[in-house]
Amino acid sequence: MNQRAVVTGGAGFLGSHLCDALLAEGWKVVVVDNLLTGRRSNIAHLAHEPRFEFVEKDICEPFDVGKVDYVFHFACPASPVDYGTHGVETLKVGSLGTFHALDVARKYGAKYFISSTSECYGDPLEHPQKETYWGHVNPIGPRSVYDEAKRFSEAVTMAYRRYYKVDTRIVRIFNTYGPRMQLNDGRVVPNFMKQAIRGEDLTVYGDGSQTRSFCYVSDEIDGFMRLSRSDEALPVNIGNPDEFTILECAKIVLKVVGSKSQIRYEPLPQDDPKQRQPDISKARQLLGWEPKIALETGLRLSLDYFKKAVAEEVVTTR
Ligand code: UDP
Repeated sequence: MNQRAVVTGGAGFLGSHLCDALLAEGWKVVVVDNLLTGRRSNIAHLAHEPRFEFVEKDICEPFDVGKVDYVFHFACPASPVDYGTHGVETLKVGSLGTFHALDVARKYGAKYFISSTSECYGDPLEHPQKETYWGHVNPIGPRSVYDEAKRFSEAVTMAYRRYYKVDTRIVRIFNTYGPRMQLNDGRVVPNFMKQAIRGEDLTVYGDGSQTRSFCYVSDEIDGFMRLSRSDEALPVNIGNPDEFTILECAKIVLKVVGSKSQIRYEPLPQDDPKQRQPDISKARQLLGWEPKIALETGLRLSLDYFKKAVAEEVVTTR
């Protein structure tokens, strides 16, 4: 196999795991990432891999890394804290960056795959969420920089398919966790793991009755790889449908870490979705995909990574 893929955002959490999966299947991989929220440490293990290249560049400017057979567009700040901090950059990478990634696919006749999100459904009124649901999104609230950027990037993707015949795919990713998540991206799993390991209070926002459905990273990447090989053009949900309240999630983290931390309640952020659960019938039928790893198991698989990240943070902030 002599196929070459470009992964925008390949130094991020999911992007870097995707690179590993592509390399394992024999691809050559070039990552383009400006390291706004991605990290060199996520791809450090690939430094001596001859089929791997890293280009530090902002895809909000046009880019060309030579001929590629597949464009995987994963560049985007993706946690509420990260896109809250980098709101304008998030809107730019969802718009300008998406045009540029699609232009590369169009130029080389490459296939194209974009990472979209369950945030397209907003604070959903339909539950669980099917791909056919158009969503309930506040277009001017604090989360709009991400939600609308991703909705727009889906629209651009469909336009390049309709007008320029680019061979596109769209995945809608639900909450995913595992090794290489940034310790300080503010998401619930890294926050709770960090707090439980340090023996600090776990910060539950609101009354903790809001729900999320958590997918372990290896299941998520398996879904991406299957979708990348399919011809499905319309969005496909990839996520684990096992739904937990945030309070339940906190209790599982305490059990997995073996921590005696207490729970502390803090205000719920504005527009925080009250519930989220993917309907994955489409992925099951189309891709034969099924997540295998339960939340407690996945948290146990992630524990060493989070312990190491907490220990390293103590060293670097000393
Ligand atoms: N959350 C929480 N405590 C934290 C971080 C997050 O209670 O320390 C809640 C947050 O309000 C939301 C859920 O956990 O209801 C998931 O938040 P996250 O930032 O992980 O991702 P989201 O699904 O909102 O994009």
